Amino acid sequence: MTHIVIAGAGHAGSAVAAALRQYGFDGQLTLVGEEQVLPYQRPPLSKGWLLGEVEQDDIALRPAAFYDEQKVALQLGRRIKRLERQAQTLHFDAGPALHYDRLVIATGSCPVCPPIPGADNDGVLMLRSVRDAARLKAALRPGARLVVIGGGYIGLEVAASARQLGASVTVVERAPRVLARVAHAELSAFLTRVHTERGVRIETNRCVARIDAVGGAVRQVTLDDGRVLPCDLVLVGVGGRPNDGLARAAGLDCDDGIVVDLQARTSDPHIYAIGDVTRRPLPLYERMARLESVPNATEQARQVACAITGRPAPAPEVPWQWSDQYDMKIQIAGHPYDADEVVRRTPAGDANALALFHFRGERLLAVEAVNAPAEFMAGRQLIARRAGLDKQKLSDVSLTMKQLIN
Ligand code: FAD
Repeated sequence: MTHIVIAGAGHAGSAVAAALRQYGFDGQLTLVGEEQVLPYQRPPLSKGWLLGEVEQDDIALRPAAFYDEQKVALQLGRRIKRLERQAQTLHFDAGPALHYDRLVIATGSCPVCPPIPGADNDGVLMLRSVRDAARLKAALRPGARLVVIGGGYIGLEVAASARQLGASVTVVERAPRVLARVAHAELSAFLTRVHTERGVRIETNRCVARIDAVGGAVRQVTLDDGRVLPCDLVLVGVGGRPNDGLARAAGLDCDDGIVVDLQARTSDPHIYAIGDVTRRPLPLYERMARLESVPNATEQARQVACAITGRPAPAPEVPWQWSDQYDMKIQIAGHPYDADEVVRRTPAGDANALALFHFRGERLLAVEAVNAPAEFMAGRQLIARRAGLDKQKLSDVSLTMKQLIN
């Protein structure tokens, strides 16, 4: 009986187990992960879970009964140390090795920490796992003083949650604006305004030069211009890197992530890889990219399940992701690579609504939408069709998106 082992029990790992059974794989299936808990959703860790709106049980991706019923053997709390491709075997820190016929690597990514003196003190946190989030939650009391290093999506989400929990928050960003790598300047300005109105202090063009602690507890950070910010807690959110060490050591093709094709195949015919750990083709944009998003993890899970069960490869999806901050739902479809024009549409009736449409020539490449679900949905459809829409009429909000795309 074919034995498929899934290495990494996160979003992608859990999704591929479900998709394989759904598509009729009836062989042996083992899901291995280093965390002790059932696979869970990470997005709430910086949002609803941190705010206390959802509990630990609510964020499990699937109930324990699912794995029993679907005959998915769980091996949790086991860290894979080495992949031996010749023998098709995984080795662990402890316990017996595991043989596979097919391996799906879904080990995700991890946050990076810049080499700041003092960053190893207690009270300097990063956010990836429910354990990290529990430490953050415990420290975010009303009146706590938080410094967030990095104005990316996770940093801004934590800033928003922390303000709602009554903490005072300063975001320190090295670039001239927040979200500099991932959003248009207008969206950065828009979110800077909203955060500032809610009491977040944002310091751009600034780095943290040093973090000082007393008895292991953080007391202050010093910025590169010499200013000192007293604080109780520092969250580092400057980006992530793929957990591709096992694959690199085993000689799989890697390039800041395990290189895969549209069936999530690696350079070894017995091994697939999915989720944050991969560098994958984006056919709509004719390039390779590493995406860190839930929709990407689930799309690639379906690709593997189709490949293994002999179904045709699913049509490539438009990459998308979301972020929740205060009462704003931010939804992003596509990528504005090489865009040469941005058209703004301001949906009526909500001061915190905005949609930015990115074009190259007549073709729509991406939409950044804040509280603008119709714009996001319509944009996503047009991007998939490699189509465009009338730019002149787009900013006329008396016309609905439905009218504009038909
Ligand atoms: P993961 O879910 O990280 O799973 C990988 C698993 O593999 C982990 O459990 C890890 O411990 C395990 N593992 C790694 N190495 C080993 C090893 N050697 N042995 C055994 N196990 C191992 N995306 C969105 O689209 N929208 C959002 O709003 C959003 N918000 C986010 C907020 C936070 C705080 C975080 C951290 C992420 C957020 N993301 C969001 C990103 C999203 O969660 C990831 O893209 C998604 O989890 C990727 O799934 P994955 O399975 O590739 O990785």
